[in-house]
Amino acid sequence: MNQSVENNRILLVDDDLVLRTMAAHVLATAGFAVAECDSGESCLALLAEQPVDLVLLDVLMPGIDGFETCRRLRANPATRDIAVVMLTGLESSDSIETSYQVGASDFVTKPIGWDLLVHRIRYNLRAVLMRHRLVASEASLADAQRLARLGSWQWWPREGRFECSDQFARMFNLSPADRSRATPFTLLQAVVPDNRAEVEAARRQAVQSGTAYNLRFHSLGSDGGVRFFREELQSTVDPDGQVSKLTVVTQDISVLAAQEEKIRFLTYHDQTTELPTRQFFVEVATHVLEQAARNRAECAVLYIDLDRFSAINAFFGNETGNEVLRTTAQRIVASIRAADIAGYARSPEGLEVAARAGGDEFLVMLSQPRRELNTTLVADRLLEALRAPITVGGETVELTASIGIALFPRDGDSVDTLLEHAEYAMRNARNRRDSFTYFDDSIGQAATRRIHREAELRRAIGKGEMVLHFQPKVDTSNGRIIGAEALVRWQHPEWGLLPPGEFIPLAEDSGLIVPLGQAVFSMACAQVAAWQAVGIWRPPLVVAVNLSAASFIDQNLVEQLLACTRHHGVAPASLCLEVTETALMENLDLATSRLIELRAAGFRISLDDFGTGYSSLNYLKRFPVDQIKIDRSFVSDITSDDQDAAIVAAIVTLASKFGLELVAEGTETLAQVEKLRDLGCTVAQGYYFARPMPAEQLGSLLASAGKLP
Ligand code: C2E
Ligand code: CA
Ligand code: CA
Repeated sequence: MNQSVENNRILLVDDDLVLRTMAAHVLATAGFAVAECDSGESCLALLAEQPVDLVLLDVLMPGIDGFETCRRLRANPATRDIAVVMLTGLESSDSIETSYQVGASDFVTKPIGWDLLVHRIRYNLRAVLMRHRLVASEASLADAQRLARLGSWQWWPREGRFECSDQFARMFNLSPADRSRATPFTLLQAVVPDNRAEVEAARRQAVQSGTAYNLRFHSLGSDGGVRFFREELQSTVDPDGQVSKLTVVTQDISVLAAQEEKIRFLTYHDQTTELPTRQFFVEVATHVLEQAARNRAECAVLYIDLDRFSAINAFFGNETGNEVLRTTAQRIVASIRAADIAGYARSPEGLEVAARAGGDEFLVMLSQPRRELNTTLVADRLLEALRAPITVGGETVELTASIGIALFPRDGDSVDTLLEHAEYAMRNARNRRDSFTYFDDSIGQAATRRIHREAELRRAIGKGEMVLHFQPKVDTSNGRIIGAEALVRWQHPEWGLLPPGEFIPLAEDSGLIVPLGQAVFSMACAQVAAWQAVGIWRPPLVVAVNLSAASFIDQNLVEQLLACTRHHGVAPASLCLEVTETALMENLDLATSRLIELRAAGFRISLDDFGTGYSSLNYLKRFPVDQIKIDRSFVSDITSDDQDAAIVAAIVTLASKFGLELVAEGTETLAQVEKLRDLGCTVAQGYYFARPMPAEQLGSLLASAGKLP
């Protein structure tokens, strides 16, 4: 064990290579020495040969699972003292409890928050470090205990004898007399009433049958304030089965808990308004809905949008804009009677949550509002509160809001659906401003409008109003264009050139995405043929086309694509199909066989937006692809955020391991290009090189030198 926790050895045990690689990079970046393996069996074998300080152990693995692995580690004297942090799937109290039962030191839930992971690991290593120091040197015992806020006591049940360390006595303010009279049960007086029964039961169980435990509880400390403790109990059982001794280590983890709370606060709270973030809202709302479903109660989700806020930002500047947002947040919280600034409160009416959805949009959840009337009242109160003029820096600003409301269970049974429907209703309310609309009422009007828009889109596809723009993929080492992505636009007779965001969602919802996809593919083939005809197309060039989930599962996909390439006289190898992980995930088995068919037909496959989903090796291994595209979100912070850089480095490692081409999308600056190149990614696409452009423009680039100027 090293004296400092950096350079400590961590063994990462997870069957998922992608997660493992990402975690390994993040931990190595944080200064740890990381070893990896992919199963419980190999973990046990590895530990027999080389010691480590901490094991990060996945719960779900083929072969023996994480729980069993931990159990075996604890049963073996050689590995008994290693810190074990379990990686549990989803926040499930069962697996957390099982983790502690099998002797884990701590747990981390998936999907992993990288900041929290590093923090937790440092903390656990420090605890182990202290334990080791205690064992190593009796002399420094007292010191180490004080530093670690670590106290210990021992109890011999048969003799009724109690002994504790000086630090323990200090932590709980025990006088010499208290110390001589103490038992595990008199100590319970300091434990707060809420936790007392649990601690008492665990200690009884330990006295009776020697059951070890690892508990967290609140207790009064020496200063009379409530502090947070973690306590580990080990027992000695005589050959005759009698418990002869209990050994307990108690650690004051208040500081750690406060730090974690801070981190959680930062990830869960918006800096400007201090309201919870959308992420937090979704988590809390999910719990609220589960409870509401059990109690057959109703809930309401309100989506609030400030009318004309962007004008305020543009006119008065960001600072004033932020001030307005803060005032808005306070008024929302006050209107829903959520008492504290953290933005949520429990009242006799149920649980109320307010959050900032981003920009000038806010969310409110009302649980168990008694009937619609109540929600209507709150919506009215909100509109009224937000209508009041706001004075900032001598300026008076007048604002109104639009609110959309979706009710559980009538308008949806998941948080996602409710949010989507509330937002939808909000857009309808926005037509009138300073008003609210229930989702139910808005669909009637909207259904009519939608039928019109659908018909218009269908006609547009038929009439050839769709056009393709092309964005080059560039070899950054020499500026050569090695391919281009075809991106569709709608040349609307009245509205001008519409970006895909304006019509792809409608196309997807209505099924028009399949004919649209065929039109796009056909145009792409025609373009390749045209470039070939004028001799500016050299073989390594590939045109990429985005393939929607619906097209992907279409029975006739491969046949149609092949018919199209034959018709235009182009080789399938000149075309690449970009699919997203989410599209593949919708139907794993079909996806696999479809990809195999497509590649057998000669098409190239690119995995789009990589890293954003539950990126997992299981897919990379299963899905035969040629290329992965690192999602824009990692590239955008790559020069400022070590973790994003570590994740990109991990993806580079994976790509080379699997022999895949790699493209970084959304590359906007020279610094990003250089950083990507340092990390080993030399193909990029993005505004830094070129925006998507009309075919003629790309044609003249290809004709000149096939390079970017
Ligand atoms: P995508 O497949 O991730 O495409 C890349 C998007 O990122 C394009 O937006 C592109 O213009 C944009 N982009 C490229 N470089 C940069 C950059 O440096 N910075 C930033 N901020 N953005 C950059 P676009 O053209 O608006 O397309 C949006 C999405 O629409 C595409 O995302 C794709 O999912 C979908 N889409 C576009 N064309 C088609 C199509 O023909 N079929 C289907 N099914 N979907 C399409
Ligand atoms: Ca794409
Ligand atoms: Ca993409």
